Amino acid sequence: MSYNSNTIQAAWGKVCWVFLHHGRIDSPSLAAFVIDESMHDSPRHFAGCRLDGHEVRVASCLASLPNDVILGVLAHEAGHVEDFRSPDLYGLSGGKLHVYKASQRHRRSSHETEVVADKIAALGMGERVGYVKLDGIGWIQCLGSGVARPKTLK
Ligand SMILES: [Zn+2]
Repeated sequence: MSYNSNTIQAAWGKVCWVFLHHGRIDSPSLAAFVIDESMHDSPRHFAGCRLDGHEVRVASCLASLPNDVILGVLAHEAGHVEDFRSPDLYGLSGGKLHVYKASQRHRRSSHETEVVADKIAALGMGERVGYVKLDGIGWIQCLGSGVARPKTLK
């Protein structure tokens, strides 16, 4: 089955616009955005951000999922863009997003890196990113609803 990549491009454009105009965060709109079917490498994975924060790749089959899931996944990746472009700047303190001074920067667990992406996504979008469990997919990001990221999720 093939999906309309325009749906994904438009959703990414919306996420970038909201990050810029609501969150005052411009980094997602500066990142390259590439449709790449190989990003759908497991039931749960549809997208990824390069570790330097300069490129997001998304499989077009993400378009088959509900709109709030599409936006949740893309907002999470936009959160990674902002985070990865400022290594170790963001962290968590008491479960809340904390912006460290250069002298305080610290290493994080992979779980913390994922939660930081969700927290930056909420900052950018003005809505929280939660996790919902979809049939055949499992836990996946959802804009505006869902539970906190399960600690068992890799
Ligand atoms: Zn992630």
